[in-house]
Amino acid sequence: MTTIRTTCGECGDVELTTSDVALELTGNGDEGTYRFVCPTCLSIQRRPATRRVVSILLATGVAYEVTVERAMITEPEISRFVDMLDSDDWFNELVASGG
Ligand SMILES: [Zn+2]
Repeated sequence: MTTIRTTCGECGDVELTTSDVALELTGNGDEGTYRFVCPTCLSIQRRPATRRVVSILLATGVAYEVTVERAMITEPEISRFVDMLDSDDWFNELVASGG
């Protein structure tokens, strides 16, 4: 079993196994954050994962998930949605638009 050494904000140095660590990849997938439950104080810790940390964690076999950044909803889209709600056939328009 691979031992991962990292630091808890409360306790300092801690040792974890790969199953203790969850990696969240963002953007194009080579950076992100990793989180773990400190084995000493049981608090959830989050640490930024640089490209180097990501490659190390992936090499040791930690579970990971990819977080896709959502596109922001624009003001025109909101007002169009509100207009649709005011009309009687908003549901048909919604279905017709493929939403
Ligand atoms: Zn701790």
